[in-house]
Amino acid sequence: MAYKVTLIPGDGVGPEITAAARRVIDASGVAIDWEVVEAGEAMIAEHGTPLPESVLDSVRKNKIALKGPLTTPIGKGFRSVNVTLRQELDLFACVRPARTLPGLATRYENIDFIVVRENTEDLYAGIEHRVGKNAAETIKIITREASERVVRFAFELARREGRKKVTAVHKANIMKLTDGLFLESARTVAESYPDIAFEDWIVDAMAMKLVQVPENFDVLVMPNLYGDILSDLAAGLVGGLGVAPGANIGDEMAVFEPVHGSAPKYTGMNKVNPLATLLSGVMMLRHLGESEAADRVMRAVAAVLTEKKAVTYDLGGTAGTSQMADAIIQKIS
Ligand code: NAD
Repeated sequence: MAYKVTLIPGDGVGPEITAAARRVIDASGVAIDWEVVEAGEAMIAEHGTPLPESVLDSVRKNKIALKGPLTTPIGKGFRSVNVTLRQELDLFACVRPARTLPGLATRYENIDFIVVRENTEDLYAGIEHRVGKNAAETIKIITREASERVVRFAFELARREGRKKVTAVHKANIMKLTDGLFLESARTVAESYPDIAFEDWIVDAMAMKLVQVPENFDVLVMPNLYGDILSDLAAGLVGGLGVAPGANIGDEMAVFEPVHGSAPKYTGMNKVNPLATLLSGVMMLRHLGESEAADRVMRAVAAVLTEKKAVTYDLGGTAGTSQMADAIIQKIS
């Protein structure tokens, strides 16, 4: 029986990288029946929104999706399609692993931690208004319910993966009520997991520590904005946005997508790295319980990275998106 999976190609480089990832995943031996649904800028003229209801319905039905990036114009137009999608489907935990890839030389070795970002509230709740002509206000929402559930998710993930420590990241020294509530919620949840160590760091100190001693960290959990920023920092530690995968996970559904955006300047150029999307697909295979297929793909990725013959520009090579995917497929055994 084939798994039914929603595929959202997305904007900019999205169609190229999702096509490449799809070909590699299909070559892994797992049968997937892809339901392709279109979201993004091209949908606005026809549907009046970049996120037609049919896209949400497809994910609600299939419970699982692989998604390319979607463009959100800065300072005008629709609110972020990505934030809306995560909120509409209640994909409350954004999981972004930062792991050194075999064969890919970076400044650091043996990095292996996971950023868990709360996905539904904080400054991304979308409650903003102008106050007269020369001021504007954004409201930061933090609730005990959303904080406790994402921290519980982080502890459960730590337990499942045999990890030793959960670190809560916040700015409770300044935002005493909002981040204070997040920290209080994290401490409450931590009491139920005596087998896993718990600590907390203020976000600015955390940014420094992640650069100085990234090996000290295991699972990090934090409100939305800090997670957005620190997961890009984490991507930088292991080779950049071209290799950073992610997942948005709720109680019922999961949407897998790269950390990076639609990289509009490279649209249609067959240039960007397909790995971030492919590695998101590998996370999806593991989520489906297809660990052997996931391992097969990872061995092929490691072989291509080690040979360095067919890698994209961001990894120092000249291969295009589809050539890198071809090389990985050839190595799958
Ligand atoms: P971006 O991640 O699209 O690109 C920034 C730069 O990173 C690119 O110019 C490129 O140099 C590099 N890069 C990104 N992906 C790469 C890849 N696969 N291989 C090699 N290099 C890569 O960030 P941006 O330019 O700030 O955002 C562009 C659009 O994407 C915006 O509209 C933004 O809102 C959107 N966005 C969407 C998502 C999402 O869909 N989840 C996430 C982030 C940004």
